[in-house]
Amino acid sequence: MELFAVPDLPEIEPGDDLAALITERVDLRPDDVVCVASTVVSKAENRVKALDDFPAGPRAREIATELASITGETKDPRFAQAVLEESTELLIEAPFLLTETRFGHVNVNAGIDRSNVAGGDLLLLPKRPDESAERLREGLVADRVVVTDTCGRPFRHGQRGVAIGWAGTPASRDWRGERDRDGRELTATVESVVDELAAASNLVAGEGAGGTPVVVVRDFAFGDHQGSDELFREIDDDLVRQAIREWRFRG
Ligand code: GDP
Ligand code: MN
Ligand code: MN
Repeated sequence: MELFAVPDLPEIEPGDDLAALITERVDLRPDDVVCVASTVVSKAENRVKALDDFPAGPRAREIATELASITGETKDPRFAQAVLEESTELLIEAPFLLTETRFGHVNVNAGIDRSNVAGGDLLLLPKRPDESAERLREGLVADRVVVTDTCGRPFRHGQRGVAIGWAGTPASRDWRGERDRDGRELTATVESVVDELAAASNLVAGEGAGGTPVVVVRDFAFGDHQGSDELFREIDDDLVRQAIREWRFRG
């Protein structure tokens, strides 16, 4: 398997045809996986917003005041309003905001970025990343597309790429029922392939001014396995999120 960044992509503007910009720069093959940073998907889909687009309601003002008192920094209640509007559930409101986005992904600040946002204050995640991935796929020779974001994780320091949308591939490959080297049957392992592809592509894309938001994964074989599209856990099946619902920050 080989990964390489698509060279010379411009600053992406609302309305840009990302698939065409990619196709002009690389000779894709049908079995390539094209991994695209959500940042540029959002820019193309005009998810660039101004803080003034989010007049703060009472809840957002309350959250911003509480955050400011904990962190000692001023917090813009319009930012809190944007996070609330992008979310279906506020899981943690102090000392930072952790929410479930409208498409089921749990992330700090609903994944709203304030870096690499030309021409605006905020960059929201794509509204429906699966649909974004599918639209991109239709415009590309490559059959598989993953939309990624850089995201933190519990238990460990550091961030890495995760998949927030995908098309043309199952999210996971299911090893259950297959055997290990000792002949023991695997009973639990469902491997999140789209997250692994996203982490690898994020490693190539970088986080700063590199200008390489699109990475091609060549010669990755999914193999002969059952696939599954489950990625985001539902609350009934998510013990960590259940625990967080009960938790309160106490300084
Ligand atoms: P995120 O992980 O989706 O939030 O995206 P990042 O902000 O970490 O950016 C990932 C990569 O895309 C970095 O190499 C950035 O320099 C690059 N990038 C971000 N926006 C643009 C853009 O509009 N055009 C180009 N060419 N690169 C961009
Ligand atoms: Mn991001
Ligand atoms: Mn990133």
